[in-house]
Amino acid sequence: MLQAPERATREGSSIEEKIVTIKMKISSSALEPIAEKYMQAKRFVLQWLYEHKTTSLKEVHNALYELLREKFGLKSKLAQDCYRDAIATYKSWSENPKKKGRFPILRNVSLWLTPKLSYTIDFNTMTAKILGEEVKIIGYPHNLDQYKDYQVKEARLVKRGDDWYLNVTMKKKVQVEKQVKGLMAVDINMDFITLGNDKQVIEIPTRLDDAVHFKKLGEQLQKRYQRRWRENKRIFNRIRSFHIKARNVIQDFAKKVGKWVVEEAKRLGANYIVLEDLNKMISHVKGLKKDYRDRLYLMQYRRVQEWVEWEAKKHGLNVIYVKPAYSSTTCPKCGYELKGSGYRTFKCEKCGFEDHRDYVAVCNLYGWGSLSLSTAPYMRDVIPNR
Ligand SMILES: [Zn+2]
Repeated sequence: MLQAPERATREGSSIEEKIVTIKMKISSSALEPIAEKYMQAKRFVLQWLYEHKTTSLKEVHNALYELLREKFGLKSKLAQDCYRDAIATYKSWSENPKKKGRFPILRNVSLWLTPKLSYTIDFNTMTAKILGEEVKIIGYPHNLDQYKDYQVKEARLVKRGDDWYLNVTMKKKVQVEKQVKGLMAVDINMDFITLGNDKQVIEIPTRLDDAVHFKKLGEQLQKRYQRRWRENKRIFNRIRSFHIKARNVIQDFAKKVGKWVVEEAKRLGANYIVLEDLNKMISHVKGLKKDYRDRLYLMQYRRVQEWVEWEAKKHGLNVIYVKPAYSSTTCPKCGYELKGSGYRTFKCEKCGFEDHRDYVAVCNLYGWGSLSLSTAPYMRDVIPNR
């Protein structure tokens, strides 16, 4: 286990928590009866919470603990896991205004398990002991090794079809360097992901065209079969599979971008990644042409950024978001407005600067990044001459 006392924080760095959920497939035929009891008990607690309008742990414990043990045959720790689980489900239902009136129906088998007490894992033998039953871990992520020094936290035992899964939450405290050692800007576009600093720029073509291709195939089928495609199961499934393919292409790409960005940041010696704040980007979307709008939605900019953030955090790098204003139409040299001068190139009429659109965006994001960092109070001592 990693020992990282909070007080060991050096100036210019901070302790942050990395959390991952590892999904493992397990062999577990013996768990069926106890899981069934748990689900019955959870439904019972949910109904009780609904009738008594309370989520107080103490009240629930006093009223139901013994009952869960006697009536449903749950062992002491699992009885507690069960009412905690029910309270969490009840809270998220009652706090969601849209779902009011529709009481949660628990269709899927899903059990909350406390580490050590309700389950243990042995990564050396790839076995687990769940509620007293020995099970084999028969499927797990190929990169499991990198999480071996993480702390094992609560888990969820889940049944999907005839298969059983254990989704384990794991945590590790890491020291994140806050001093700026280097910046790298990332500009996300429909055609390219452009990244770099003031010295080097790298372009990665996106897979948006592939995604659009699949989406169009789906739409063509929908058009050809008019209203009948919903009724014909075979055609319905084909259409659906095209749309899923389109989505998967981009999601897969987004994941990879996260990895590439972190690789490049390390190569360039950057511990800060600068991204564009996209909050307002989709707001004017209604006035756009359908083709363009489709591409915009398909591209899932935010998803790409989330993967960059995720990978960055995993590797102890920082991510900052800066205002997108003018990032692609302002001259990075003199700040004058740029004019288009050819296919994807811009020119400054004032100072003569001319370059590729995406390169301009990266330069400006890079500049914004260093600007907003150098004005942050803790940065003034670190880089005095900015
Ligand atoms: Zn200029």
